[in-house]
Amino acid sequence: MSDVDQQRQLSIASALEDATLTTSDVKFDYDPVAIMPDVRVMKIGGQSVMDRGRTALFPILEEIVANKDRFHMLLCCGGGTRARHIYAIGADLEMPTGVLAAMGGYVPMQNARMLQMLLAKHGGIFIDEDDFVKLPLYFQMGCLPIMTGMPPFSYWEKPGKNGRIPSNRTDAGVFLSAEFLGAPRAIFVKDENGLYEDDPKKNPKAKHIPRISAAELIERDLPDLVVERVVIDYLTRARFCKEIQIVNGTERGMLTQALEGEDVGTIIHA
Ligand code: ADP
Ligand code: MG
Repeated sequence: MSDVDQQRQLSIASALEDATLTTSDVKFDYDPVAIMPDVRVMKIGGQSVMDRGRTALFPILEEIVANKDRFHMLLCCGGGTRARHIYAIGADLEMPTGVLAAMGGYVPMQNARMLQMLLAKHGGIFIDEDDFVKLPLYFQMGCLPIMTGMPPFSYWEKPGKNGRIPSNRTDAGVFLSAEFLGAPRAIFVKDENGLYEDDPKKNPKAKHIPRISAAELIERDLPDLVVERVVIDYLTRARFCKEIQIVNGTERGMLTQALEGEDVGTIIHA
């Protein structure tokens, strides 16, 4: 390459020419394309569903199968008790957050593996990070893609606000998947009718909250939440996924209502 050519290449005109990308005035404030906005991105809870075994999971699977030709669904798994176990042991052995995130990631993967086997005869297919871009193909072939809910931050997990437990776990991964795909809502299938003013298992008198904004929820600073706190924070910045819905998988029919777009359970909105 001649000196002249080299110089030309270094000065390609662009809107970000000379920009550091860190100044606050550098913005591409356009509306991005929604990649697959019709996909129903759903989380199947780890502790709240998978760990409860067949009595909790099988009726949910029946609902999923009954709806599989009506909606394109992306199923993501939570970790649950086994993930909590490895976090506890890892933290006791003084592992940093990134190591806990890497290890905690194996458990929701195991749950996704089992879910895939259970749904195999209905087109259940296990997908990993590299398969994510093949979602259009899987949907066209009538498959039910199933993956871990854990975002692939692993050793690169961000430092959290409280302690060393990774703050981006499977709820965050599900939300971020929906946001990436351009889905307006992410559905979380758990074992409670949504969000309450306190953990209903510890405080049975806690009141149900059918609808609340992320800002109000942050403001109220409840003692405990039904989803990871980072998800509420991300909601305030969402471009597409401006609502999350928490439904009770142990209540027959509630998931189907959610898939149909009904406001059952709790809606937390941007
Ligand atoms: P997952 O299995 O999807 O990871 P979790 O077990 O982590 O779900 O979270 C769901 C649980 O959160 C519920 O079973 C409930 O006991 C608990 N929880 C804590 N705080 C709340 C709250 N404010 N409202 C509802 N549930 C709550
Ligand atoms: Mg959880």
